[in-house]
Amino acid sequence: MQNQKANTASDMGVLKQKSRDGAGKTTQMDQAALGGMVFRRAKSIRAEESDERLMMELTELVQRAVKDSSWWEKQGIDCAIVAGAFLCLPAGFLLLGTASPFCLLTGLLLMGTIHAIITVKGSHLASHRALSNSKAWTEFWNIFFTEVCGSFSAKAGVDAHVKLHHAHTNIIGLGDSSTWKLPFLPRYIYLFMAPLAVPIITPIVAVGLLKDYSPGLALRTICTILLGLGAHYWLLVHVSGFQSVSSTLLCMMLCRAVFSLPYIHVNIFQHIGLAMFSPLQRPKRIYQMTHGVLNLPRNPVLNWTFGHSLISCHVEHHLFPYLSDHMCLKVKPIVSRFLKDNGLPYQEDAYLSRLRLFIQKYEELMVFAPPITELVGIQ
Ligand SMILES: [Zn+2]
Repeated sequence: MQNQKANTASDMGVLKQKSRDGAGKTTQMDQAALGGMVFRRAKSIRAEESDERLMMELTELVQRAVKDSSWWEKQGIDCAIVAGAFLCLPAGFLLLGTASPFCLLTGLLLMGTIHAIITVKGSHLASHRALSNSKAWTEFWNIFFTEVCGSFSAKAGVDAHVKLHHAHTNIIGLGDSSTWKLPFLPRYIYLFMAPLAVPIITPIVAVGLLKDYSPGLALRTICTILLGLGAHYWLLVHVSGFQSVSSTLLCMMLCRAVFSLPYIHVNIFQHIGLAMFSPLQRPKRIYQMTHGVLNLPRNPVLNWTFGHSLISCHVEHHLFPYLSDHMCLKVKPIVSRFLKDNGLPYQEDAYLSRLRLFIQKYEELMVFAPPITELVGIQ
C-alpha cells in the first residue's frame, strides 16, 4: 500500500513538473487532467485495497477452519484413502488371475480405481505437499506415486502443475491449459479415444523430458519408472498367473486406462472455456481464481479416486492449494458462501453439460486461441 501511495504522489509530481516546464504556470486544462488522473488512481487504489481485503478475509476464515481441525482431518483421511488403495492391491491381482469373466472385469475395475487413487489423488496431493508436513516424506511420496506408480517425472509434474498451472491459472501462454490441446485430432477422437493411450504416452513424454535434466536426476527417473513398470509386470505374472508377454502388457495398459477418459475430461472442463487473462494485465488472485476455475458436481466415483480438490472443490483448491482433499471439502461451504455474499462468481457445471459443450464448440475451445477476458474495473 505504501508503494501504491508513493506512486500516486510521484505521478502527481511528474504531472506538475511537466506543466510548469511547458507553460511556466499550471493551466486550467492541466489541473483538470491532473484531477482526473488523481481520481482514477485513487479509485484504482481503493479497488486494489478492496480486492486484497477480500482475499485476506477469506484466508482468515479458511485458516480458522484449518486451525480447528485435527491431524486426521488435515492429512489423515486422505493418507488413509491412499493406504486403503494399496491394501486392495492383493485382491485386485488375485481377481485378475481368475477364469470367470465377471471376476476378471471386477479385478480390472478395481485395479483401475487403485491406480487412479495412487497416481492421480496421491501424486496430486504429494505435489502440493498436502499429505505430510515433512519435506523429506513429501519428496519421497511424490517420487513414489508419480514415478514408480504413475510412470511420469515428479519434477515435471510439480513444474507443470504447481509452478505453472497453479501460479498462473488461465494466464495465456503460461497456465492456460493449452498443454492439454491436440488441435490436429478430431473432436470425437480427442474426447473418447485418444485418452485411452495415456498409459503409453505418459512414460514416453517423461523420457522425452529427461534431456533437460541433470544426469543424476535423469538416471533416477529412468530407474524409478522402470522399477514401477517391472514390478507391475512381475506381479501380473507371478500373482495373477499371466503367461504371455502380450496379454500381460495388455492387462497392464487396460488397468492404467480405466480412468483415462474422465482424467482428460476433468482437466479441460474446469478451465478451458472460462475467462483467460493477458500476462500483461493479470487480475487480482481472488478474481483470477473465481473467474477462471469451475467446480463439477460431487461424484461418488470421481471424488474418491481423483480427490475432492480435482472435482467438486476445484475452486477451493485453486484458492488454497496447500489444503488436502478433505480440508477442501470442509472449507467448501465457507468459500462458496463468502464468494456469493461478496458478489463473486462461484462457477459450477455438470460433467455431461461440459462434455456437450466441448463436443459442440470443440474448435472454439480446443483448436483456436482463447479470447482474452478483461475484467473491467477490477484489473
Ligand atoms: Zn493442484
